[in-house]
Amino acid sequence: MTSALSKFSARRALLLGAAGLAAMLALPGVTAAQDKVLNLYSSRHYDTDEALYAEFTRQTGIQINRIEAGEDQLLQRMRTEGERSPADVLITVDAGRLWRAQSMGLLQPIRNAVLEKAIPAHLREPDGHWFGFSKRARVLVVNKEKVKPGEIARYEDLADAKWKGRVLIRSSTNVYNQSLVGSMIATLGEPATETWAKAVVANMARAPKGGDTDQLKAVAAGEGDVAVSNSYYLARLMGSKKPEDQAVAAKLAIIFPNQDDRGTHVNISGAGVAKYSPNKENAIRFLEYLASKQAQEYFSKGNYEFPVVGGVALHPVIAGWAEFKEDQINAAVFGRNNEAALKLMDRAGWK
Ligand code: FE
Repeated sequence: MTSALSKFSARRALLLGAAGLAAMLALPGVTAAQDKVLNLYSSRHYDTDEALYAEFTRQTGIQINRIEAGEDQLLQRMRTEGERSPADVLITVDAGRLWRAQSMGLLQPIRNAVLEKAIPAHLREPDGHWFGFSKRARVLVVNKEKVKPGEIARYEDLADAKWKGRVLIRSSTNVYNQSLVGSMIATLGEPATETWAKAVVANMARAPKGGDTDQLKAVAAGEGDVAVSNSYYLARLMGSKKPEDQAVAAKLAIIFPNQDDRGTHVNISGAGVAKYSPNKENAIRFLEYLASKQAQEYFSKGNYEFPVVGGVALHPVIAGWAEFKEDQINAAVFGRNNEAALKLMDRAGWK
């Protein structure tokens, strides 16, 4: 046993007695450090993840105990558990959240040649606190009937008065927009980004409401002409068997912004080793596994995302999206800019 958990177990054993301890360890999600166990704190819940985890167990004999909750609940839970936390690996979406976990002291830095070779540098935290395992692009989606190809090509264009009353984008409380704005702060500086944000607010078709899918549906319904959305939300509609989703998708066209300059903003779904991981070796093996070609297929296809490792096939629905230029800014930079982005959007009147 490693120190944190054995301390925990010893202390609890004194309180509970041996039977109490055994009962506690039998609770789902609370497992003593052993050779063949991995406690995974996850906010992902895609069907393909079952196959992803089963394959890891098949290859290594390591059993995965999954604790699933919303992103912010997971972070709170790890914080509350402190050094008694059984968490080995935290998996979540968006660099903003991974950054938050890191700044809350919930993750430990990992130096690892396999991960550093497989994952491009801009998709992992420079000190190894977390690693990206799939990518999502924050794209523009337009109504094909109302917007001609080439009419809008950059995030900056959303500020043009030409789009007054036509822009659909969700609230500033959403981490995807915070990360986009955080990346723009890094590239354009705060004053220029604030000017942009004010102009975007002035161009909104309505006060922000709903998620990315709601913005796409609103474009199809004619409430506005251009939406900002993560790429997989459009792919979900395209891949949906429901006729109403297909009807929405048929009206829409995707635009990867800023192809002639810095590239499209990409964010990650990623993971890091928990600060007090009782099964650290297994945790690292699991991250190495996620970076393998086989796991990358499961991991990215499960949510129509892009793999981070080269030579891995895309989901057929997004096969046409393979070639686009992505912003090379490190995901840690817009993670770090998260708070500044939130304050800036507030000042700009972005609800
Ligand atoms: Fe999402």
